Amino acid sequence: MEQEIYRVYSSYLKEKYGEKVYKLPVNLPVTCPNKENGFGCSFCSDSGTGFEAMSQSVSVTTQLEETREKIEKRYGAHKFIAYFQNYTNTYLPINQFEQYVNEAAKVKDIVEISVSTRPDCIHEAYLRVLEKVKKSSSINITIELGLQTANYHTLSKLFRGHGLAEFLGAVQLISNYGFELCVHIIPNLPYDTMEDVVETAKIISVLPVSQVKLHSLYIAKGTIMAEQYENGELEICSKQEYFERLAHFLMYLRKDMVIERLFSRIPEQDSLFSNWGESWWKCQDEFLQYMKEHDFYQGKLHYKTGQLLIDKGYV
Ligand code: SF4
Repeated sequence: MEQEIYRVYSSYLKEKYGEKVYKLPVNLPVTCPNKENGFGCSFCSDSGTGFEAMSQSVSVTTQLEETREKIEKRYGAHKFIAYFQNYTNTYLPINQFEQYVNEAAKVKDIVEISVSTRPDCIHEAYLRVLEKVKKSSSINITIELGLQTANYHTLSKLFRGHGLAEFLGAVQLISNYGFELCVHIIPNLPYDTMEDVVETAKIISVLPVSQVKLHSLYIAKGTIMAEQYENGELEICSKQEYFERLAHFLMYLRKDMVIERLFSRIPEQDSLFSNWGESWWKCQDEFLQYMKEHDFYQGKLHYKTGQLLIDKGYV
């Protein structure tokens, strides 16, 4: 059997739910503490990351129903994930958060709720709300946490407003609830080296993280990075170097982890730079070819704790 290059998210969802599942982005009336208290992350635009979502002023039910109808017609889909994508979706008074989650859970054909947030905005009270919904409606829960890199010096240069410790604390709390946990990583941050990328893969692999969403660094208009980029203060690595970093990240990662994305997707009109001027799918095809040619695959270099003792035959 041909070696699977990496564990693909869409196939994983098909295995889990028995058919294709689509994500429906929901824009909640939230902001982000990092934007409120400072500039926000240097790569984040004023509109955050929800380029495809509807306006915050539209109700959760309407956003979900209207998007579901379109996707249903286009792809004949029957199962959906309500995706609270933009900004920090737990940065809300708890009763408001509960109301939005319950509203999403009541929409027809929703099988999962995915909540995107920051490591410093995880609290037991919010996790209990999600647990209650999971138990009462059999809807699965995924939490998406932005980390980007385990290198806390880089996190500081990006103005992330949290370090590695806050991320580790959040992962510990979430793991008590048994939710799926997806972590966002940018393997080609200008301040990171290949060593940082490998260390990030190793750290994530020893944690109860089940999914990773990888982004190639893009430069969104109106961001701090856009200014740095236009002033020639920011160097973006070549496509070849991104392939090498991404390949090594995947090779050091646990084999069971699900990979949601390998290249960023940002509308052309919103960016100054993205995927070396090529489409994400062309980059992805090229990358998969590169992996095949080198016999690289996810988990190939993953180090299991205690492996040395097993290899020695001591246990
Ligand atoms: S935490 Fe997310 S929403 Fe907030 S500034 Fe950073 S990227 Fe933007």
